[in-house]
Amino acid sequence: MTHVIAEPCIGTKDTACVDVCPVDCIHPRKDEAPFTEAKQLYIDPDTCIDCGLCVDECPVKAIFTEEDTPSQWKQYVQINRQFYNK
Ligand code: SF4
Repeated sequence: MTHVIAEPCIGTKDTACVDVCPVDCIHPRKDEAPFTEAKQLYIDPDTCIDCGLCVDECPVKAIFTEEDTPSQWKQYVQINRQFYNK
């Protein structure tokens, strides 16, 4: 299981989630080169421990558990995964 960042993050990239993630699995961070061109932030599904700390930090409510990702955004499960070439 993992958490997933969906469409509301596009153009937002607030990064409050990055600051609270205990395992540093949300990228790109502001200090990483791809940040500027990245459309959104992504969660590494193999590193996420499903703690849920990022969910309430997101000002646009873009983060869901994989199973609770709304049906219109299910493709973001794969979109997050693909950022890490998985
Ligand atoms: Fe990080 Fe926890 Fe959010 Fe997973 S659920 S991305 S481990 S803060």
